[in-house]
Amino acid sequence: SIPAIDRDRERLAQIDGAMPRLDAIAAGCPFHPRCPQAFDRCTTQRPELLAASATRAACWLVPASPERGAAGVVA
Ligand code: SF4
Repeated sequence: SIPAIDRDRERLAQIDGAMPRLDAIAAGCPFHPRCPQAFDRCTTQRPELLAASATRAACWLVPASPERGAAGVVA
C-alpha cells in the first residue's frame, strides 16, 4: 500500500495472531481462523477480490457493490 501522508488517518486495526505458513492456509477465507467477525460461510467459501467503494476488498461483509449484488453473492 501507499499511505497518504497529507491527510489524517486512523490507525489501521490489526487482528490477533500471525499469518499461517503458505502451505497451511485454511480453506475459505484465509483470515477466518483469526477474524473476530468470521461466520460459517467464511470457513468454506473464499470471497473474490471486488470493487468496494474507492478500493477493493475480499470479504463477505463488504457492503454490496454492483459486482457482488445486494445479497453479497457474486453473480
Ligand atoms: S470473509 Fe470477511 S468476515 Fe469472513 S473471515 Fe474473511 S475477513 Fe473475516
